[in-house]
Amino acid sequence: MDIKTVIRTIPNYPKDGVMFRDITTLWQDAAGLRTAIDQLVWPYAGVRIDKVAGIEARGFVLGGAIAHQLSVGFVPVRKQGKLPAATIGEEYDLEYGTDIVEIHEDAIKEGENILLVDDLIATGGTAEAAIKLIRRAGGTVVGAAFVIDLPDLGGRARVENMGVNVRTLCE
Ligand code: 5GP
Repeated sequence: MDIKTVIRTIPNYPKDGVMFRDITTLWQDAAGLRTAIDQLVWPYAGVRIDKVAGIEARGFVLGGAIAHQLSVGFVPVRKQGKLPAATIGEEYDLEYGTDIVEIHEDAIKEGENILLVDDLIATGGTAEAAIKLIRRAGGTVVGAAFVIDLPDLGGRARVENMGVNVRTLCE
């Protein structure tokens, strides 16, 4: 199936001029969700993956399903202040200002192979910060998987320039 047909676009959300790609309509479609997870995972067949890291919040849904499919653990990458135990954090630029993503400092062990997952890559700033975090924790990012790529914003190239293979399902 063409998963684009079950992704909805909401104009002017969260603010005027933005076309928000809403994947909740993909999640609520049984064939759509199954297809998206299968298609994100198959290129990594034969690659050793120790954990999936998912970016808050839509990356939790996709990342949890992918971790289950791969029979590996899951690590949440969260916005600052949301994780209960000791964390490490990485700052990244937003359109206006900055934000910080965090992981638990004991979430990733030295030498572990990590698959990073989020719903969408735009500028790649969020993914770049997550990759830096995983590397600081001693992990190797063996891939970054997203349902949607917004190619005009250059995120894929930014992540590939960090030496990370990028998998996306549609533009
Ligand atoms: P970036 O850091 O690559 O510029 O932005 C990607 C992050 O913003 C992702 O975590 C993604 O969930 C969120 N994001 C930005 N625009 C959209 C959108 O149109 N739809 C969805 N679902 N997420 C978006």
